[in-house]
Amino acid sequence: MQTEMDNSVCPYFQGSDERCAKRFNLHRMAEIYDQCLGEFGRCSTYIELRIDHSSRPVDDPVSHAA
Ligand code: SF4
Repeated sequence: MQTEMDNSVCPYFQGSDERCAKRFNLHRMAEIYDQCLGEFGRCSTYIELRIDHSSRPVDDPVSHAA
């Protein structure tokens, strides 16, 4: 069952993408909370990842992991 909280967490939050990892540090906690756990649709990395995943071939196993 999906909760309201699940809907506000970026689907890439627990991934291993290097672009996200650069943001994940203690000095940027407020940014992480506001964007990765809230308004992730406004994140430029989120938009890039969506484009990357939508342009992969269907048989690419990486695209099925997210
Ligand atoms: S909001 Fe952006 S930085 Fe945060 S997990 Fe999602 S894609 Fe990565």
